[in-house]
Amino acid sequence: MLWFGVAQLCLCFSALCYIIPTIDASPGDGSWVFQKCFRNCNGRNCTTNAALSRFHKAQPTVLSVMQWNCEDECKYQCMWQSVEAYHKDGTDVPQFYGKWPFIRLLGMQEPASVLFSLLNLLGNVIMLYKFRCYALSTAPMYYCWQFAALCAINAWFWAAVFHSRDVLFTEHMDYVSATGMVASSLLMLILRLLVLRPWLQFAAFVAVLAGFIYHVHYLMFVRFDYGYNMEVSIAVAAVNSVGWILWCLYVRKKQKYVWKAALTICLVGSLVTLEVGDFIPFYWVFDAHSLWHLGTVPVPFLWFSFAIDDTHYLSRKVIEDQQTPKPSNIAQDVMGDKKDNCDKKEKGDKKEKGDKKDK
Ligand SMILES: [Zn+2]
Repeated sequence: MLWFGVAQLCLCFSALCYIIPTIDASPGDGSWVFQKCFRNCNGRNCTTNAALSRFHKAQPTVLSVMQWNCEDECKYQCMWQSVEAYHKDGTDVPQFYGKWPFIRLLGMQEPASVLFSLLNLLGNVIMLYKFRCYALSTAPMYYCWQFAALCAINAWFWAAVFHSRDVLFTEHMDYVSATGMVASSLLMLILRLLVLRPWLQFAAFVAVLAGFIYHVHYLMFVRFDYGYNMEVSIAVAAVNSVGWILWCLYVRKKQKYVWKAALTICLVGSLVTLEVGDFIPFYWVFDAHSLWHLGTVPVPFLWFSFAIDDTHYLSRKVIEDQQTPKPSNIAQDVMGDKKDNCDKKEKGDKKEKGDKKDK
């Protein structure tokens, strides 16, 4: 399965590199129907103070809270007029401004992607809590994995914001945060390879952080080059995935639990095909990108379950290296205590909630 994973990932990343130049083509907003509709709508509603004031008075609060201005509203309405025209002509509906037409909900542009991004965020929050509960605070990589969880939480937060409202700032934050999440995963691999060598780990952390800061600085303050950002993200993701798979292959006999890491990498690799094979949204709600976000919901559960197992393994290894009597039992006992504490805490929380309900 692992070699299949490597081959599959190489194929997916090559395919993604191939589609980079075609990502921003959107003939819908360049069509005659759209342009005519937009000129009329914009001229009628958005060009004079009186018209703008009428527009703001008539606009539902939720749309103004979600920063839909007059021009955006015209674009949204004209997009659906154009979709109707395409249907009447019996031709395929194209993208508009680089996106498929989506039915907005409560002012959110891509509600399905928002919901699935929030589920990913929630999964990472739950697993960060579980990790803190079940992993020993003295275990190697204890703080590293929490840092990775925070990077993922940050990335999914900005993904939810960006899919709610696509403006330049939210788009840049989403792209940069997603790159940060992938880079943090690669950092975890490097730190794991250098485990129990704190100075080398520190040097690797500083090097990766410096590289990331340079990348963000270039994008934010020099030029936001989408192609360059995508190439960097794909390169980091490819090295990260192949690296983790090779590491799993190497240690699989001693560390049986690494199947969780390998499965996570293979799962993400398989889901990347959704980004390659884009299609018109089902019911104007579910497109390939939203399904890619739905598919990654189980990832933090699998990934941090691996992280918990790995910190247990490393704790045992540290104790074994110190050559104390019956090492594995001691480590097991310590971890058992921690697990019991978490179980007790969870049971206590549930009991407390039950008591409150009874009252
Ligand atoms: Zn997204």
